[in-house]
Amino acid sequence: MINNIVLPFVLNEGNIRGRMCKLSTVLDRILNAHDYPLPIAKLLGELLIATAIIGEMFKSKHLITLQIKSEGLVQLMIADYFADGKTRGFAKFDVEKLKKNEKLDFNDLIKNGILTVTLDQGEGTDIYQGIVALDGEDLSESIKKYFISSEQINTEIKIALGQDLTDGTPKWCGGGIMIQMLPTENFEDEWQKNQLFINTISVSELIDPNLSAEYLLYRLFHEEGVWVDQAKVVNFGCRCSRERFHTFLKAIPSLELPNYIVDGKIIFTCEFCSNNESFTEQDL
Ligand SMILES: [Zn+2]
Repeated sequence: MINNIVLPFVLNEGNIRGRMCKLSTVLDRILNAHDYPLPIAKLLGELLIATAIIGEMFKSKHLITLQIKSEGLVQLMIADYFADGKTRGFAKFDVEKLKKNEKLDFNDLIKNGILTVTLDQGEGTDIYQGIVALDGEDLSESIKKYFISSEQINTEIKIALGQDLTDGTPKWCGGGIMIQMLPTENFEDEWQKNQLFINTISVSELIDPNLSAEYLLYRLFHEEGVWVDQAKVVNFGCRCSRERFHTFLKAIPSLELPNYIVDGKIIFTCEFCSNNESFTEQDL
């Protein structure tokens, strides 16, 4: 069983760099905390994988967030990846539209959508934000377009997600691979060759929890040579706490407070992890 990791690697003597991600139990922890319909859970899982890969590619020092907003079924979807390898995510979606749609494709989910990439390097730094229209066949294609059009970085990316049903209980498993080459580095032939290699990786290989990232990289690139660095372990981690909810509560104008009170209590639920905290009027 493969753990939750992002593995950095380089190709072509360091001129092409990449990240491979494999997530399993972290996806279960995040996706099972909500009762999302399958297409929503699947897209959120892909977004979490993409966020971890991009966070490690950018060498994020604090937090990277990928956010989807759309007029399709997905109203809002957020995945956070912190520099310490902690990740979390949630989705809001249109239940009515979901009921009407039996067969969904990517466009039904993210119609007229935009993907926002926010890089927060911590206190005292400017927040960097990039935006791209979501279209194409899947999330990978939109992310590739984002890097090529907004960042002018040659990018190839493939993400896949599935469920392992071998022991009767569905377990999420997913994987992703991304390579990038800066435009200043002129290795077009090598780039195209490696792009082709990435496109030979199958969905089942990417999601198979028993195939390690190292094995897959060797399978893809052994003829050209691939160098891997130390894998980063990814964990679930939320930043919510009773103190944070309390601070938030204190900011609500007292006249509005009765609107939030049910049976003498205000209950806060964290959208990311579904953690509940209950406050009485005396707590305020
Ligand atoms: Zn939380």
